Amino acid sequence: MYTDLHENFTRDPDARQARDLIDACVHCGFCLATCPTYLDSRDERDSPRGRIYLVKQLLETGDASALSRTHLDRCLSCRSCETTCPSGMRYGRLADIGRGLMEESAPRNTAQRSWRYLLRYLLSRPRLFRLVLNLGRMVRPLLPASLATQIPQRQSLPPRPVATRSRSMLVLEGCVQSAATPRTNAAARRILDRLGITLVAAPQAGCCGAVNYHLGAHADGLDNMRRNIDAWWPHIEAGAEAIVSSASGCGSLLVEYGELLARDPAYAEKAARVSALVRDIGEVLQQEDLASLAVDTGVGKIAVQVPCTLQHALKLPDLIPDILRRAGFDLAQTQEGHLCCGSAGTYSILQPETSQRLRDNKLRALGVDSPAIIATGNVGCQLHLQAAAEVPVVHWIELLDR
Ligand code: SF4
Ligand code: SF4
Repeated sequence: MYTDLHENFTRDPDARQARDLIDACVHCGFCLATCPTYLDSRDERDSPRGRIYLVKQLLETGDASALSRTHLDRCLSCRSCETTCPSGMRYGRLADIGRGLMEESAPRNTAQRSWRYLLRYLLSRPRLFRLVLNLGRMVRPLLPASLATQIPQRQSLPPRPVATRSRSMLVLEGCVQSAATPRTNAAARRILDRLGITLVAAPQAGCCGAVNYHLGAHADGLDNMRRNIDAWWPHIEAGAEAIVSSASGCGSLLVEYGELLARDPAYAEKAARVSALVRDIGEVLQQEDLASLAVDTGVGKIAVQVPCTLQHALKLPDLIPDILRRAGFDLAQTQEGHLCCGSAGTYSILQPETSQRLRDNKLRALGVDSPAIIATGNVGCQLHLQAAAEVPVVHWIELLDR
């Protein structure tokens, strides 16, 4: 699809990359059949192909309407369309660029801007988020049920390993996960300790940058990335084997640091090194002897929800089911595994109606074989599903820590 860049964009490297990305699209429409928002609304403008046209229109006219921005806002960035596209269209990257350009071309009103700023500010600061979460837990009995169910229960934590092993890996503690589901990394630490690996957290590292970057605040997102690189660099130079992420949403951005900071001379090389070192916790375990963990697998059937970021962005759709099967767990049948649960970062807050419809569909598809537990690999999916599920929703690594 040829795009004739408007003069406003001819010198903009992001716009030029968007033009090149759009070039790959051949309008075939295969992606419509696997796009959750198109299946929900049946509106072409809520489909990958429709959104590609909207970004193309912006690049050619130098202008975007609030309506175009609304259809881009409704995209989950689940990247299911990338898995389906026969032409190798990198839709996720295009959506990020399009969002950044539309924030400038079609500015939001003050209320929307303030709300999005507040979300970005709060969610990317773990200490502040933990404080707000604790306040929410205190007033939960006073809240309407629809709001109370959104506040996750406090998790009890197992003892931390005390020994230092001969192998070490960095771990991303993250922002929302470290406050809302700290048991995930606690379990990861204990499992890897038993396999002879110590997980090390760099105190100065924080949010991976996804909250800011995917909401179109690219400069803030890139600053988050630079801060993490600075925090990790001494450990990388000291020989850390990998940077482990137990939230696939974060991992899918960490692997893009190299590309996103490629034009920053001070960070390009380091960012590429960081991206090359990133591993999902499942990729680390895949290389290890799980039999030595002697896991108690008597928990009943487990329905696995493979997060979109794991299957469509990191291209590891079988990772969780394979590990759980190898460990001896009984996996439940599920349906429509390629479709998003509706969590999608801040989507569940900014687009609640669509998000809840997608969650209802997902819980139906996960429940067809009456599982005892739902296991996922990303904090956002876990919290979103748990708010409406009738069975416990856990990070799969917790199952290995039994
Ligand atoms: S499947 Fe790929 S090439 Fe076909 S319309 Fe969708 S994005 Fe374009
Ligand atoms: S990223 Fe997901 S919601 Fe967005 S266009 Fe692609 S399939 Fe649809």
